[in-house]
Amino acid sequence: MEFLKLLTETPGPPGREELVRSVILREIQGVFDEVKVDTLGSLICTKKATSGKAPAARVMLAAHMDQIGFYVRHIDDKGFIRIHNVGGFDPRNLTAQKVRIGGKKEIFGVLNPAGKPTHVATEEDRKKQYQISDFFIDTGMTAKKVNDSVRIGDPVTLVREFSELGNFVSGQAMDNRAAVWVAVRAMQRVKKTPYDIHVVFTVQEEVGLRGAGPATFGLDPEICIALDTTLACDTPGIPPEHTITHAGGGVGIKVMDGASISDRSLVDQLVQLAEKKKIPHQLELLPAGGTDAGAMQRSRAGIRTITLSVPTRYIHTVNEMVHKDDLHAARDLLSAWLGG
Ligand SMILES: [Zn+2]
Repeated sequence: MEFLKLLTETPGPPGREELVRSVILREIQGVFDEVKVDTLGSLICTKKATSGKAPAARVMLAAHMDQIGFYVRHIDDKGFIRIHNVGGFDPRNLTAQKVRIGGKKEIFGVLNPAGKPTHVATEEDRKKQYQISDFFIDTGMTAKKVNDSVRIGDPVTLVREFSELGNFVSGQAMDNRAAVWVAVRAMQRVKKTPYDIHVVFTVQEEVGLRGAGPATFGLDPEICIALDTTLACDTPGIPPEHTITHAGGGVGIKVMDGASISDRSLVDQLVQLAEKKKIPHQLELLPAGGTDAGAMQRSRAGIRTITLSVPTRYIHTVNEMVHKDDLHAARDLLSAWLGG
């Protein structure tokens, strides 16, 4: 799990995916025939069909590299930093977090909402529901030092170490580094394929699927597969009809979410293949939210598209948890399908 640890601990908010891209580039040496970076920053890795039957069907996989994060919005005269979010945070999860500011120099700070500590808070204070605009970063440095090292627009990410907990891995940015891991590990297994495969590590998914659309247009694939995390709501306090997926229950084969409805024949094909190969899998229906599939499906004149997902607990927090068996199931199903 060293590669996944490195992926989750490398910062990459939307628009600033360059460090994650470098980590992937190092890992995929020798796996693809061609590697390039498109205008928006997505990493496009191509493996040509080995079957020799021309022309081969073009398949595109998309795994977004970005994670939810922030940009520096304002520095006040005491050196406290205000931020603007890029991606959907729940402000309830942001109190007392450590953050990294990735400007000219890497700087760390703590994130808290403006307000009184519990000892002196009134009943009224305690009821307050914070917005992201209430939060500020304290770097411990003087205003002058902050202004020397931090600029408006510098990227900010939460900091949390990767850890293995029982059969799970936990950390920040499992969404979507877990799926990046799946894409790389699956491709390392695909020696023969009837397809021309383009694996695209996309940018800016968390701010509205912005990288996937242009990449799809450029590659003009016939089949698209988005690789992403999805909710595993199999934890206390969530009624069974809202479970979405079970952690440890296998790779999610998506039927629909808020941004796309999967191509029916691809759903059937992947379910049949999973059954044949005895790969644990589950059908997934997510009422809201989406993946790069939403942009890929609507590219050009429309493209047959599906999402394979990795069930994830506590999604969009710094302690996202993924079951190792689900990572392996996603890798196995994807590589089996790509191998024809
Ligand atoms: Zn995602």
